[in-house]
Amino acid sequence: MGTVPSALKHCLSYQHLLKEQLWIGEPAAPPPAAPHPGQESQESGLPEYIKIVEVGPRDGLQNEKVIIPTDIKIELINRLSKTGLPAIEVTSFVSSKWVPQMADHKEVMRGIERHPGVQYPVLTPNLQGFHSAIAAGATEVSVFGAASESFSKMNINCSIEESIGKFEEVAKSARNMNIPVRGYVSCALGCPYEGKITPAKVAEVSKRLYSMGCYEISLGDTIGVGTPGSMKRMLEAVMKEIPLSALAVHCHDTYGQALANILTAIQMGVAVVDSSVAGLGGCPYARGATGNVATEDVIYMLNGLGINTGVNLYTVMEAGNFICTALNKKTNSKVAQASFNTGTIS
Ligand SMILES: [Zn+2]
Repeated sequence: MGTVPSALKHCLSYQHLLKEQLWIGEPAAPPPAAPHPGQESQESGLPEYIKIVEVGPRDGLQNEKVIIPTDIKIELINRLSKTGLPAIEVTSFVSSKWVPQMADHKEVMRGIERHPGVQYPVLTPNLQGFHSAIAAGATEVSVFGAASESFSKMNINCSIEESIGKFEEVAKSARNMNIPVRGYVSCALGCPYEGKITPAKVAEVSKRLYSMGCYEISLGDTIGVGTPGSMKRMLEAVMKEIPLSALAVHCHDTYGQALANILTAIQMGVAVVDSSVAGLGGCPYARGATGNVATEDVIYMLNGLGINTGVNLYTVMEAGNFICTALNKKTNSKVAQASFNTGTIS
């Protein structure tokens, strides 16, 4: 009576060790105020602050085969909103014929609690999608282009040139309404149909999106084939055309290279990183593409580098646990796996 079993004592000290040394953080710590990304850099040359764009509710859930109930999606977004994440991609205003999982976009957009200081972008491939997104209350949109002609045809059913035309219409309407537009370039490090994609092609498509008014260009390794070498070469080409402060990276972990690729990008000064809670995701048009890099793993790495994200890792792990339980699947986050297995969180 009154004594702590030695196994539990060990467990408690292990929890302490993880919190102190491995940057799990206290559950209730409020997120610090976020400066603008890339404004200052550490002595090491790394950015002092990195903005995490959470794409799990859209890029992640879109790839789930079973239709997820709308209230689960809303609950996930509401939980993520309380973690300190500065941006959460909510849904996609595409035709439900193409992406049935996103057919409840209006209900999700209207149902979420919006927290001050959090951006809630939605995907809008064309003007029709843009108008229904705005009608549902969207205040930021994203357009989704590709650096590969074949991928563009398979993914959005039109050529790169035709897609740029549609995005220009969206960008023009958005400008008139003061709505910020984010641009994605998928297949930036390789294409499931064409294989290698030249850095020059990525730079060209990125420049077109930036010139039409996209405030940020997210360079996507959609099928996760990139390495630090190809990431560096691609970024060098894109950085000649677009200011560094307007670049983001979006890495999938198919070949286990995502964290290394992100580290390479931030060493080159990129200060915006897309990631997905619990590593949810994949790509229906890119066979074998596994999940996005897990938000938990990215934050753990950045915490270890002393880079501020304003995000509480513990609460992100709890949100990840919520969605994995709801989907009855195992998390793809190594950090969450390790933490649950060692009893750091339960
Ligand atoms: Zn993705």
